[in-house]
Amino acid sequence: MFYYTYLNVQHDMDLITAKQKNVFEVFYQRAKILEVENITRYLASHYSPRTPTHVLHNGPDTDYLYGYDLRNQQRFADIPLQSPAANILNTFRYALSYPEVVNIYTIWNDYRLLGMVADHNVLPTKLAQLKVDLITQPAWYHYFGCIGFAANRTFCSTDEAYVSDIEFDNFSMRNTITMYFPFLHQARYGVAKYGLLGIDIAVDEAFQDVLRPFDTVNPTRTSISFNAAEPCYRWHLCLNKPFMRTKAGEDLYLKWSYSGLDFVKLTLHSPAFKVYLIVLLLGMVAWKQLYQRLRTLAHTDHLTRLPRRDILTQRILHEHDYLMLLDIDNFKSINDRHGHTVGDAALAAFAQHLRHNLRKVDSAIRWGGEEFLVLFRGMEDDEMMIHSAARLLDRPLRIPELPAPITFSAGVIRIRDYLTVTEAVHLADELLYHVKQHGKHNIACYEGKTIRLIRPLPDDAEA
Ligand code: GH3
Ligand code: MG
Ligand code: MG
Repeated sequence: MFYYTYLNVQHDMDLITAKQKNVFEVFYQRAKILEVENITRYLASHYSPRTPTHVLHNGPDTDYLYGYDLRNQQRFADIPLQSPAANILNTFRYALSYPEVVNIYTIWNDYRLLGMVADHNVLPTKLAQLKVDLITQPAWYHYFGCIGFAANRTFCSTDEAYVSDIEFDNFSMRNTITMYFPFLHQARYGVAKYGLLGIDIAVDEAFQDVLRPFDTVNPTRTSISFNAAEPCYRWHLCLNKPFMRTKAGEDLYLKWSYSGLDFVKLTLHSPAFKVYLIVLLLGMVAWKQLYQRLRTLAHTDHLTRLPRRDILTQRILHEHDYLMLLDIDNFKSINDRHGHTVGDAALAAFAQHLRHNLRKVDSAIRWGGEEFLVLFRGMEDDEMMIHSAARLLDRPLRIPELPAPITFSAGVIRIRDYLTVTEAVHLADELLYHVKQHGKHNIACYEGKTIRLIRPLPDDAEA
């Protein structure tokens, strides 16, 4: 079952990662419409180096453009994007409005960092940590670090973007991936400017479908990373799958890990467990039936298919109202004249005959030899009982093997609360003996203290 759950999770992971849109691809497309020169144009319209404009943004819901000098680590511009001129930055503002976009900024070869920050945010502290020497930045080195770059102005790499590792950004307090797009910009005085356009993407937002994949039991830990191998915690079940690729050919891996406890929880939630429960239940039902069958078999007499005498407990006795002990008449002579096999057939036929002539609530037991015991239930009084018994008596059993019908003698007693099985059977046996003594093929019962025979005797027999 656990293995089945494991396979299921794997399958879910495949489905969910297949459905995930390629986040990188989306940003390759989005970056294409961003024109970095508009940033400098907007800056120029608000700022001249002689009189630095330092407009503090006001109001929490304002995006603003900031300028930061990487060499002297000074902020030189902080301009709210409110004036009509800000329309030229609409594509940036639009890109920034995506929940997964934390920042958009440009780093120029003159060591200026110009960027846009969305509502509520302050200048990224991560920018303060930027090394002054741009060439030591991996992304910068990737595009501008080769000798050939300065000469022919083609980038050192043809990758459309350099995708950073996942880093914790203590500006937004989120894990981010930065995509750096290189750009070349011909300035007015013929001095070429170039740099990187960076887009900080919040990992939890951009990848939420694969990081919080389920409504109910989610993995204990989920993460994505560019490293294939990542240690799996002890007692954790870890799944790992490359699910996205950058244009530079780097694979991003999705990792789900379940603690033992969470995996058990997941299993309990899984369809596998429901199937297991059903199978278990069916198994229990089947077992119960089998068990009951075995029990019945163990207590069933082979020849007559009636229960054997050992099923009669005190409890069963007292669930009934009357007990009748029957003995086939002159059975020995059947055996003697027609053989044991016919005797057996007669016994089986007699048992069948009993079953057919009793109500469902009554029970017949093979007491031994050619003796049977019948328990009656729901008999209100002696009259009702005698009526039932008489019906049985009036239907002697004929079988093809025997010329004469098979008759029986019986004693019937009312089951009183204080009677044990032995006592009850003993009383019935006394009545049965009485019948045998008085012409057989009859049923005796007590009427007060006297014995009454159900079928009246012919006068001569009584005498
Ligand atoms: P009564 O009318 O007084 O009851 O006479 P009876 O011949 O029926 O009495 P008895 O108890 O002396 O004989 C019972 C016979 O039943 C004895 C035994 O051989 C025979 N018997 C007992 N069990 C079986 C059996 O399973 N199969 C066969 N064929 N005979 C059996
Ligand atoms: Mg007998
Ligand atoms: Mg007999």
